[in-house]
Amino acid sequence: MTSTSDARAAGTATSVHDVAVVGAGPSGLAMAIALARSGLFTVLIAPDVTAEDDRTTALLDSSVEMLKSLDLWERILPHAAPLAHMRIIDGTERLFRAPETVFDASELKLEAFGYNIRNRDLNRILGEAASGTEGLTRIHARFEGLEAGADCTRLDLETGEHVCVRLVVGADGRNSPVRDAVGIDTKTWRYPQAALIVNLDHDLPHRFHSTEFHTPTGPFTLVPLSGRGSSLVCVERPEVAQELAAMDDDTLALELERRARSVYGKMRIDGARQVYPLGGLTATRMGARRAALVGEAAHVFPPIGAQGLNLGLRDVAALVEIVVSARDRGEDIGSDEVLGRYERQRRADITSRTTAVDLLNRSLLTDMLPVQALRSIGLYLASRVAPLRRMLMREGIAPVLARPKLMRGLTLGR
Ligand SMILES: Cc1cc2nc3c(=O)[nH]c(=O)nc-3n(C[C@H](O)[C@H](O)[C@H](O)COP(=O)(O)OP(=O)(O)OC[C@H]3O[C@@H](n4cnc5c(N)ncnc54)[C@H](O)[C@@H]3O)c2cc1C
Repeated sequence: MTSTSDARAAGTATSVHDVAVVGAGPSGLAMAIALARSGLFTVLIAPDVTAEDDRTTALLDSSVEMLKSLDLWERILPHAAPLAHMRIIDGTERLFRAPETVFDASELKLEAFGYNIRNRDLNRILGEAASGTEGLTRIHARFEGLEAGADCTRLDLETGEHVCVRLVVGADGRNSPVRDAVGIDTKTWRYPQAALIVNLDHDLPHRFHSTEFHTPTGPFTLVPLSGRGSSLVCVERPEVAQELAAMDDDTLALELERRARSVYGKMRIDGARQVYPLGGLTATRMGARRAALVGEAAHVFPPIGAQGLNLGLRDVAALVEIVVSARDRGEDIGSDEVLGRYERQRRADITSRTTAVDLLNRSLLTDMLPVQALRSIGLYLASRVAPLRRMLMREGIAPVLARPKLMRGLTLGR
């Protein structure tokens, strides 16, 4: 301890660890497991999750590789459906319409682009794995504030406990209290859209297709679930999304079957409906004052193209690698230099994904003919030109360059 604030920070600490991860969503759980497996004494601080999450997440190939590196994939696979084909259907009825385009994972010599899993299954499996991880302590409490010093940070918890660490990881979601506590600003924006989310059972098999209708109000996407059903993300004007959500099961199922052009035959509603207003958020920095942000604490964008958590897991893989190599070189893992490396490694990926999702979404909403024509020509070329199609497929999964070690089948040892 070198400074007065460090003395204050450590003096009242009830426990001392290398790293604290705040938040036990999928990003926080994966982060805590990976850090502890790398030999860092890690504490996971999060209240128990009470609400059931009926959403699903498509884990793309690089995320699957990371979960394999952490020996978690075998537990997840039985609950997941492979996305072997992605079909895009232009449902805009506009002057310039793209041809139906199908992307096949086999063209990339992959069994699947990714796997779709219910969030509650994913979180349960990650939570169980976290409980059994050596070197990982779990505190079931909310983070309330922190005091950062030159050598360590003291975290204050709602239980009155204090934890002293060298690095804090804010994996505490879009309203991130950690981000606020270290004074990182955000840029936020809204779209004139909301997403209706619901799981569906249907008569015809999905044959592992993800089917996306591009409509003038946004994508209408059916993603296969394990078994026969699919999860739906239907992006609409907010008032229409609310009207759909208020329909009784039979009326809604019929309306969704009509919108899906009966590609899967008769549909039935399977579970609760949720409506999410669409917007975006980017943190202006990925870290400051001994804290690094991962997942939705750092970036939020619309559920289009299955990018959100996949980007979050790339944050996790990159940060673990940077922190472990700093530890191995005897550096201070929470220093500005280490946080700067993390910032430099992640910024381009986050900016390019945010921009791509934003452009795709806006190209559907716009009435400008040149933009509609460009989108249609792009899809036409993708359907006809194999090298372009393969490049788009590879980039859609994850950036080809600079994949972190955990996403290349490598482990990070002690
Ligand atoms: C409809 C929809 C569909 C989506 N589909 C996909 C998809 O197919 N593929 C994909 O990659 N992404 C998808 N996403 C995005 C994905 O769901 C998110 O990126 C992901 O859930 C974010 O995880 P996270 O762990 O960063 O945050 P969260 O899941 O929000 O977890 C944050 C955690 O922090 C905790 N927390 C908050 N405050 C505190 C505190 N003070 N102290 C302690 N803990 C705290 C919360 O309780 C919570 O458990 C979708 C999103 C939506 C809305």
